[in-house]
Amino acid sequence: MGKLDVTVLRYLTKEDFRVLTAIEMGMKNHELVPGQLAASIANLKAGGVHKLLRELCKHKLVSYERGKKYDGYRLTNTGYDYLALKSLTLRGSVSSFGNQIGVGKESNIYVVADEDNKSICLKLHRLGRTCFRNIKSKRDYHGRRHKASWLYLSRISATREFAYMSALHDRGFPVPKPIDFNRHCVLMELVNGWPMTQVQELTDVEQVYDDLMNLIVRLGNAGVIHGDFNEFNLMLTDDGTPILIDFPQMMSTSHENAEFFFDRDVNCVREMFRRKFGYESADFPKFADLKREDNLDAEVHCTGYGVTKEMERDILQEYGMIPEDADETNLESDDSEPEETPADNYPKDTLKEYRLQLQNEVNFSEMKNTQKTDDSIRRY
Ligand code: ADP
Ligand code: MG
Repeated sequence: MGKLDVTVLRYLTKEDFRVLTAIEMGMKNHELVPGQLAASIANLKAGGVHKLLRELCKHKLVSYERGKKYDGYRLTNTGYDYLALKSLTLRGSVSSFGNQIGVGKESNIYVVADEDNKSICLKLHRLGRTCFRNIKSKRDYHGRRHKASWLYLSRISATREFAYMSALHDRGFPVPKPIDFNRHCVLMELVNGWPMTQVQELTDVEQVYDDLMNLIVRLGNAGVIHGDFNEFNLMLTDDGTPILIDFPQMMSTSHENAEFFFDRDVNCVREMFRRKFGYESADFPKFADLKREDNLDAEVHCTGYGVTKEMERDILQEYGMIPEDADETNLESDDSEPEETPADNYPKDTLKEYRLQLQNEVNFSEMKNTQKTDDSIRRY
């Protein structure tokens, strides 16, 4: 597995950043963002923006494509990675990039270093793009439908993961310490342990079994279900303590399918212990035994990270945990042509809002010493 290619972070200018951010904003409502619109959001001269866009194309941060109605630019995975990594770097959460250490079902995992040169874990969420299941137009932040679902899904996946990890860590659950997040990237503590998939032997099988079942019950009593509690999402430290990872699909115990997912998590553990360690026990938790002691599920929605109920529904659908809404499905049938606002007829207030957001992003990066930060981006 290779290194994260961050050379591009070094030679892109403030204007590049501005135009790339403008493309990202344009994609909230456009599958392809016309150069004119990008220039308008970036509040820069169209001629200059076209030149910058050509450069961004060359570095594969955006791609230029022909649409049915008009041509335009699309943010690439690399472009989105760049925006997030640039932001995390500018605010000092990341200072250097290292090797990929894992590929999950819906993510790439890297080791990076913080400003004290301490190794931390970077998770890049990749949803709705690599496999074409469930590619549907989702609603954007303003409730309008849009096609750029991979941007939206990857972002809410990371946001939910960070929100749940924070709430869990605050309560002393054995999860990595959350550090920061931006767009589709989550920074967290690097777990010093073995993925459960690589563990073939346990000194005290019964103890680890009990620890895992107790963890499921403790989560349940706090009001949540992990939803993917299997050997890919469990790590074991040298002293045999289980650490739970991977949270975007977590759900409330009040969810209509909660019992099904609770039982599935419990059965994952039973099955893993039977298969790997030849261990079976008649002792396992039942959903009915849960006693609510906390409202972690509700807290996640009021943490200020902006995790809404609508996001929860969209992401659980994406993870195949709840059926697609009937009304959304009906909407798809007449969805061959996405409703788009022509670039030259863009609502004034939206444009104003985008320009303001963009200015905030740019101001933020200018507050810091960009040059110094750029120079300090190195590899190890
Ligand atoms: P996915 O959602 O794609 O399944 P995961 O969060 O499960 O992603 O991570 C994929 C793999 O990366 C894990 O199985 C684990 O081996 C490794 N990993 C993830 N987070 C960490 C971490 N904080 N510390 C160490 N390794 C990790
Ligand atoms: Mg996983």
